[in-house]
Amino acid sequence: MSTRVSCALTIVCLSLASAARPVEPGRFDGRSWWAHVKVLADDRRQGRETGSPGLREAESDVVDQLKKAGLEPAGEDGGFYQKVELESRQVVEKDSSAALVRGDKVEPLVLGEDAILSARVDLAPEVEAPLVFAGYGLRVPEKGYDDLAGLDLAGKVVVVVNGSPAEIPGPLASHYQTNRERWKAFREAGIVGVVSVPNPASMDIPWPRIAASRAQPAMDLRDAAFHETEGAELAMVYNPARAQTLFAGTGHTFAEIAALARERKPLPRFPLGASVRVKARVEKQPVESANVVARLPGSDPTLKSEDVVLSAHVDHIGVGEPIGGDRIYNGAMDNASGTAVLLDVAFALARGPERPRRSVLFVFVTAEEKGLLGSKYFAARPTVDPASMIADVNVDMFLPIVPLRRLTVWGLDESDLGDAARAAAAAHGVEVQRDPEPQRNIFIRSDQYNFILRGIPALMMAVAPDPASPEQVKLFRDWLTQRYHAPSDDTAQPVDLSAAGLYEDVVRILVLDVANAGRRPEWKPDSFFRRYTGKVPSPVAPGDSSRSRRR
Ligand SMILES: [Zn+2]
Repeated sequence: MSTRVSCALTIVCLSLASAARPVEPGRFDGRSWWAHVKVLADDRRQGRETGSPGLREAESDVVDQLKKAGLEPAGEDGGFYQKVELESRQVVEKDSSAALVRGDKVEPLVLGEDAILSARVDLAPEVEAPLVFAGYGLRVPEKGYDDLAGLDLAGKVVVVVNGSPAEIPGPLASHYQTNRERWKAFREAGIVGVVSVPNPASMDIPWPRIAASRAQPAMDLRDAAFHETEGAELAMVYNPARAQTLFAGTGHTFAEIAALARERKPLPRFPLGASVRVKARVEKQPVESANVVARLPGSDPTLKSEDVVLSAHVDHIGVGEPIGGDRIYNGAMDNASGTAVLLDVAFALARGPERPRRSVLFVFVTAEEKGLLGSKYFAARPTVDPASMIADVNVDMFLPIVPLRRLTVWGLDESDLGDAARAAAAAHGVEVQRDPEPQRNIFIRSDQYNFILRGIPALMMAVAPDPASPEQVKLFRDWLTQRYHAPSDDTAQPVDLSAAGLYEDVVRILVLDVANAGRRPEWKPDSFFRRYTGKVPSPVAPGDSSRSRRR
């Protein structure tokens, strides 16, 4: 039985809720979590590439567990699945080439060593255009900041360094680095292509692995209503260790620019005195995949029409270039770990003593690794009433590799959910911190972002190293360099089961508190993301105007 509480402030209400509930230690010991991870990240699942039999089997494992937990299907046609239609694009390198052209001098580039072509945009068969260095390539109207201002960019290809100046707050900087926002600004300036140079100070993985990733096809949703980079003819990623060639003869060096970018200082902007010449042949294939959606119905007759969403991606990057003789990119932490958290929390809530008042919607998405495509599709064309979703807690690669004393919460200051997360963590004596590395853009790099764009308050949490412990800081850094998107992110790696179990309980408390609170979470008055509240979803289903009216 629950008492109906009315609170003037959701924050107070949420904190009271967690203060009142005694914590039951040992509810999760990490063992069930690890058992789920072992199934999903098994070699037989072949790294769960989007569209592959391995991902289909892993999703069927998930559905079996959801049935066992007694959840209701909430996908299409009364089932657990939502079909997601995609197109894969693979650059055929033997029929493709790239070069820098300076006057009559042509300097061929070696694909894979100097740069790679990115089929995230629909590459034109042939492009030749002058290069202009545009700093971070960012336009942030809220801050009156514009790297494109004052440059002649019509018909040009811009070279940009990934990152942002310190004066732009993290969430805002991340938002304007999305493909969608970048290409809005680029199109307006007449830019036809982009060469991005990873910021050596914030590269998660070393160049050889970035280069190796080009063996995997890029994907986009098949429906053109979702495409975001129209007008783009070229996208390249340039090896920072070779980037000096781009700046030859300009009076600037890449070392000088990288040093400024490391400090998040403003960057100079200038024409590079060279053109890029690219021929690209791209093979396209239709790909079919699916999201998995299930609901635990709430206990309150009115509030059960509202859903607290828990999301995690099931897909990973499949089979690729062997590293240390291993070709299977198992994705144990990325993101069998998050999928397993959702399954454990589903069991705990379904079998717990008290049903949450609101419903809890479990959304397992596909194609996250291809650019958050499964969640983008679900958030735009949900299988449930779009207005029912009041919050999203996303779990992606939460890294229980040290004891859990501190959580990083992305979106901590943006909505009431941040306060609820703080309270849920405090129930276990765990501290929370905001994103200590905003330049890595984690806030836009996982599925919560697509819910945010629909006006739904969202956050993501992960285990953080103790900043006072050089060993822990190194452990996390090494994990990213060596295991992230590598075959060694498998079940042979060491994990901290008690940290995983504790994390699961923080998620369980957070979801319960939000599901039981008197009021739904809201964006903070000064949050940039508040602007998406109540916005008509775009794109809507073709010919479906009822959905946009419902919002
Ligand atoms: Zn990943």
